Amino acid sequence: PETAVADIGLIGLAVMGQNLILNMNDHGFVVCAFNRTVSKVDQFLANEAKGTNIVGAHSVEEFCAKLKRPRKIMLLVKAGSAVDAFIDSLLPHLEEGDIIIDGGNSHYPDSQRRYEQLSKKNILFVGCGVSGGEEGARYGPSLMPGGNPEAWPHLKPIFQAIAAKADGEPCCDWVGDGGAGHFVKMVHNGIEYGDMQMISEAYQLLRDGLSIPNDKMADIFTKWNKGVLDSFLIEITRDILAFKDKDGSYLVENIRDAAGQKGTGKWTAISALDYGMPVTLIGEAVFARCLSAIKDERIQASKVLAGPSETKYDGDTSKLVDNLEQALYASKIISYAQGFMLMREASTQYSWNLNYGSIALMWRGGCIIRSAFLGDIKKAFDKNPKLENLLFDDFFQKATAKAQAGWRDVVATSVKLGIPVPATSTALAFYDGYRTPRLPANLIQAQRDYFGAHTYELLDNPGTYIHTNWTGKG
Ligand code: NAP
Repeated sequence: PETAVADIGLIGLAVMGQNLILNMNDHGFVVCAFNRTVSKVDQFLANEAKGTNIVGAHSVEEFCAKLKRPRKIMLLVKAGSAVDAFIDSLLPHLEEGDIIIDGGNSHYPDSQRRYEQLSKKNILFVGCGVSGGEEGARYGPSLMPGGNPEAWPHLKPIFQAIAAKADGEPCCDWVGDGGAGHFVKMVHNGIEYGDMQMISEAYQLLRDGLSIPNDKMADIFTKWNKGVLDSFLIEITRDILAFKDKDGSYLVENIRDAAGQKGTGKWTAISALDYGMPVTLIGEAVFARCLSAIKDERIQASKVLAGPSETKYDGDTSKLVDNLEQALYASKIISYAQGFMLMREASTQYSWNLNYGSIALMWRGGCIIRSAFLGDIKKAFDKNPKLENLLFDDFFQKATAKAQAGWRDVVATSVKLGIPVPATSTALAFYDGYRTPRLPANLIQAQRDYFGAHTYELLDNPGTYIHTNWTGKG
């Protein structure tokens, strides 16, 4: 129809929506804008969108009429019931084959449900993780679309054009079926929690164990950012450490040490428990935020609970700083290996056909966890798309082998000084557990059989479950 002028429609004119529309416009796509509070459409057209090809609509009906077929409608509204409400109001105006994309931070079971419900109506649903915040949305986000694969050929030209680029390649590809896009976004956020926690542990060891002043810490991060840890989070940490308030003091030292959270890290940890995958580092990162949040209780505890007599490091500082770089690197390898283990398990259970190499590429740029390291993960999956675990790739085997002495030294030193390093130490415990052919779970099995007759298998006869009367009593 003549009225159908727009390549894509976008609903939700808050920060994310507005910036994504402007980004699409920059790349030559005509976008139709809509919002629940309709007055925001006119405000947007008169201000931010002035002089662009962006069009607007004042009702859902007008909005749907303005879209080229098959319609491509992206929602960037508050996650939860707002998404369902908009889908319901759109449905009467859609035709079979039209595409609805949810770009909000939706929980993946919701996306899986919407995908299944809309498939029955022949509407193609895509749950798309969007990362990179406001800046990313405007100039190149990381986009993680998953859902109905028939939608992808229609979306690919738009999404890959507006996405961030890393080494010339777009940080956007098809993730997998069903709720896969939002699952992968969730794991991304969990990994972000882990990266931030590890960096914070390094900061505390430098500050409290080694008494290194902020400007010198910033120099250390500058150096790290040129090596294996090269990443956005290391870079911004350097800037934060060196940032001075108006009174000349370092601002970060004046910030209350109680971390907030919005829940995506918790979702990752919960799904790790649900799928029985040892994603220990993200779990510890979430708990570390919880522990930080009970600051008043910690202050009370600090007055009554004993710590070690030595709390300052008296060894070779520069050696420990080098070891700390290795500890961070090795822990990061473990965290990503664990994240990919979780994705692999969910992918198997949901038959999502996750594309692991592309996931690494999508995280390579545009998002908070972007790093040079993700390029190495991409290479590992390019070499072997069926790679069972990152730690089986020779590059990462060599890297952990090289890092482990320093990593152990950092964990041991922190423990001796009474400085908590939950993420760094749980990563090491995982590494040691993962490479141990014989864990003490035989004893756990015996205990379970002793008190609950839960039965056990013998090493030389797996698959056969037997019970023993451990006490000899009837
Ligand atoms: P937001 O504050 O999460 O949501 C505001 C938008 O949602 C407005 O357009 C608002 O419409 C609409 N809305 C709220 N409740 C609604 C309801 N019950 N029915 C219909 N519409 C409703 O906006 P945002 O920060 O731009 O984020 C949009 C989505 O992207 C969210 O899911 C967010 O989690 C996700 N996200 C955000 C970031 C970020 O950095 N901010 C990054 C990645 C992803 P009105 O104007 O009518 O109130």
